[in-house]
Amino acid sequence: MKILVINSGSSSIKYQLLDMDTESVMVTGLVERIGEAQGSLVNKTFPGTDKQTVTELDQPIPNHSEGLRLSIELICGGDNAVCSIKDIDAVGHRVVAGGEKFCAPVMVKDDMWPDLKETERLAPLHNPANLGGAKDAMELFPDVPHVLVFDTAFHSTIPPHAFMYALPYECYEKDNIRRYGAHGTSHKFVAGECARLIGKPAEETNIITIHLGNGASMAAVENGKCVDTSMGLTPLEGLVMGTRSGDIDPAVHNYLAVNRGMSIADIDTMLNKESGLKGLCGMNDMRDIHAAIEKGDKHAELALGVQTYRNRKYVSSYMGVLGRVDAIVFTAGIGENDAIVRQKSLEGLENFGVKIDEEVNNQRAKAPLKISADDSLVEIWVIPTNEELAIARETKSIVE
Ligand code: ADP
Repeated sequence: MKILVINSGSSSIKYQLLDMDTESVMVTGLVERIGEAQGSLVNKTFPGTDKQTVTELDQPIPNHSEGLRLSIELICGGDNAVCSIKDIDAVGHRVVAGGEKFCAPVMVKDDMWPDLKETERLAPLHNPANLGGAKDAMELFPDVPHVLVFDTAFHSTIPPHAFMYALPYECYEKDNIRRYGAHGTSHKFVAGECARLIGKPAEETNIITIHLGNGASMAAVENGKCVDTSMGLTPLEGLVMGTRSGDIDPAVHNYLAVNRGMSIADIDTMLNKESGLKGLCGMNDMRDIHAAIEKGDKHAELALGVQTYRNRKYVSSYMGVLGRVDAIVFTAGIGENDAIVRQKSLEGLENFGVKIDEEVNNQRAKAPLKISADDSLVEIWVIPTNEELAIARETKSIVE
């Protein structure tokens, strides 16, 4: 079975074609700067193998539909075609927010669109593009099943005492304000991989998953089910991220409005785009931050300290939530690559049975790596996330 996975953003499309009989990647692609004067498309067939070919296009790409059409032309036509269009059995789409109605992946049916439209207000920056991309793909592939895989779905098992905010109840009832979380596909994938690696059934395993990329979130997974996560109504809550503040006192809004005359929209932009690591030290890439610390940059050192302290606070609170923890997993760009962040995020938790092996932690690996010390009560793992494979697996299971 061949499955095309599409992640359609506001001005970009990421895609992968996977052969699900072997779970191997046949094609990866990235369309960027859609709608701008000059767009780009990079299509790689059989990436990382000796059959790899790379095709790059630089031309105006007026809309997502055209971006997708060009991509399909490269996948299924020309010298480097990997299959014909009729060989593609299903399409899986990443959708950021599913709200309370979409708690699991679904095969798209015509009568779902009004409910899907309603989810857009929960993720106005992402869902319209995700769903618009699905509509475009359905026109190009009218005869195959299209499956929507929601980032929030894994968090739908979080109980009310963890997802409710202590606001007037009508905020939940009338306005759907609650914690939904994000990155669920990634948390689910690495929690599943971790259970397999430690040799226990997922239903008997308690895991803390830490997704540290530009966006960052943590999840507490009890007996295979998510029971808490750090992101909230939107992906702004929780950990310190590249440009997002994570947790702050909600009264900061009023304080800034009164004292600086800022509008709600300006404050929202500041918290989402000008805060986090970037706000503290002017940089949001951890590699730059470490280089700056080496040169004695105090702001960079502070940013690392604030970020890793927040991580540690969340890890220890999720240890309390779970009562017993089998494993802690680091994943995504920072989680997979940054030994210093991993070490500082778990520093001081030795008396709770969390002990990193510093030497192994400093090793670089593209595959899962156990980084806990032999006498650590909790296993600590670095597990590369693979959201495309996770979406393809979900799509396959729905289609079958
Ligand atoms: P997203 O998908 O949220 O954009 P990623 O998971 O790709 O993010 O992570 C991107 C971040 O990972 C970069 O901003 C950078 O901070 C961090 N990163 C990537 N490679 C490294 C590395 N070798 N060392 C430290 N941090 C890294």
